[in-house]
Amino acid sequence: MSVLITGANGFIASHIVDILLDSGYTVIGTVRSESKFEPLFGEFKKKYPNANLSYEVVTDITAEGAFDDLLKKHPEIKYVLHTASPFSFGHDKSFEEIYFKPAIEGTKNVLKSVKKYAPQVTNVVVTSSHAAIMTITSEYFKYTNRDWNPIKLEECKNEFEAYCASKTYAERTAWEFVNHEKPNFKLTTVCPPYVFGPQVFDSAVTKTLNTSNELINNIVKTPPTDELVSQPAGLGIDVRDVAKFHQLAFEKESAVGTRLFIAAGHFTGQTILNILNKHFPEEKLAVGAPDKDNATELSGYSIENVIESVGGYEFISLEKSIVDAASQYLKKFGSF
Ligand code: NDP
Repeated sequence: MSVLITGANGFIASHIVDILLDSGYTVIGTVRSESKFEPLFGEFKKKYPNANLSYEVVTDITAEGAFDDLLKKHPEIKYVLHTASPFSFGHDKSFEEIYFKPAIEGTKNVLKSVKKYAPQVTNVVVTSSHAAIMTITSEYFKYTNRDWNPIKLEECKNEFEAYCASKTYAERTAWEFVNHEKPNFKLTTVCPPYVFGPQVFDSAVTKTLNTSNELINNIVKTPPTDELVSQPAGLGIDVRDVAKFHQLAFEKESAVGTRLFIAAGHFTGQTILNILNKHFPEEKLAVGAPDKDNATELSGYSIENVIESVGGYEFISLEKSIVDAASQYLKKFGSF
């Protein structure tokens, strides 16, 4: 069985490739350039010498028909996982160029090509986000997978809002496509919050990490005199669980057609500091105010986890996620 995964070199996607190869799937990844995937490709080939893994370069996912040739060339593809989408900050171009166009047009292009050239595809999974669900509000709220972020593209004031809007509109675009176009495939979306955990291979660890893990790198830089590291406050999940849910999203009939909104727990900067100080005392990090951490309360919301549709699930704890990510970083660089 063949699976196409877009953005295969990404933090989350590379873990998805890993579990799919481990489960015996043939995997075809798309990347923006060969150099982005070559090192990972080598590592996967070492880990799974008999694996069926290949990749195709799609330089611009926003170009009309970007995936047409690829899908014509691979009539064996049965499942499509669309993860490629911008998730980084600090750009000096317009929100439209950096976030909206790649997220929304990219999603539309994948779905259009699958409908047109790959009628054999039975399932498409789109990586969405808690960002497509949450409302930035001061009121306490319990989020469910029925909630939608009401944010409007034209109202975004900063990159974080633009990112949230890009994910919201991209996911809405996917569901609208399915409802209006009635393709052969069924859609499932995966909506994780902050994703932590190790890179799929030690060799993929770099001084600056992917956006969500970089949060850990920022927190370790907290000045020792700071009293309480309460920000950011949010929900977290391990990358290995997120990868697994992308697989369950097409394998579990009861999950198909749903929004898989999943989280392992709440955290604040203080939660992360507490975990790091417990496991890496030799790093002499800021202590903050360990006893004042109340992540659930500080985040201002709780969630209704979606695990029944996959037959129940036990998430990797945030403590393990943070410890595994930090250990891998320390193994490579010796200190924070
Ligand atoms: P990464 O930055 O590690 O991976 C992002 C992937 O998307 C890369 O393959 C990247 O390619 C590709 N991409 C980014 N911008 C573009 C673009 N303009 N055109 C084509 N491809 C692009 O991030 P993650 O693995 O963390 O994120 C993967 C997905 O998960 C995204 O959809 C993100 O929104 C979503 N997500 C992530 C969360 C997290 O906390 N990490 C939380 C919730 C959702 P390249 O390397 O060439 O830039």
